[in-house]
Amino acid sequence: MSVKIPIETSARHIHVSKEDFELLFGPGAELHYIKELSQPGQYLCQERLTVKGPKGEFENMAILGPFRKETQVELSLTDTRKLGLPGIIRQSGDIEGTPGCVLCGPNSELSIEKGVIVAKRHIHMTPDEAISLRVRDNDEVFVLTKSYGRALIYADVVVRVHRSFRLAMHVDTDEANAFSSDAEPYGVIVRLFDDNYNTDKWIEEVLSGIHR
Ligand SMILES: [Zn+2]
Repeated sequence: MSVKIPIETSARHIHVSKEDFELLFGPGAELHYIKELSQPGQYLCQERLTVKGPKGEFENMAILGPFRKETQVELSLTDTRKLGLPGIIRQSGDIEGTPGCVLCGPNSELSIEKGVIVAKRHIHMTPDEAISLRVRDNDEVFVLTKSYGRALIYADVVVRVHRSFRLAMHVDTDEANAFSSDAEPYGVIVRLFDDNYNTDKWIEEVLSGIHR
């Protein structure tokens, strides 16, 4: 038995450290809650920032609370192109070696040296859900999306397990537009191989006439 995995779209947004937030909004400034997001404890804030790159900028970019240890800007590949930054696909929190940008707040401008990522697509789930779906934290799986006329099988989807998570796959706006315009899209995990797969190896095999 498998289950429907709701697919949610993450538009571009920012996570900030308390230190950077106070530089941008002034000493003692605090995040102001607007609404809860799908993952428990995560919320949209009233505060907004302008994000600048060498070729362009986005005004009024949403900040998500609570504070994180390090500031991180999450964009789609289309967004990175508009800003003129390289698009580096990473899991949230893994920002070593990623490009920086300039953040503009009401109190000051701040140039960050790293932290701009294109979030690697992932599924949040609880330990119980992981057991019933026969996956583990950090596994990478295939997800077949419900067809709205151009279904996709997404590869390299990271499983993230925590007891506070709510079952949902997160994709960015490019990925969402690639398969669906539906309000409540969903997919299922599909198993295409028994052993550890590697899609590049799969391509090599197909090119050399091996079909498994
Ligand atoms: Zn997520």
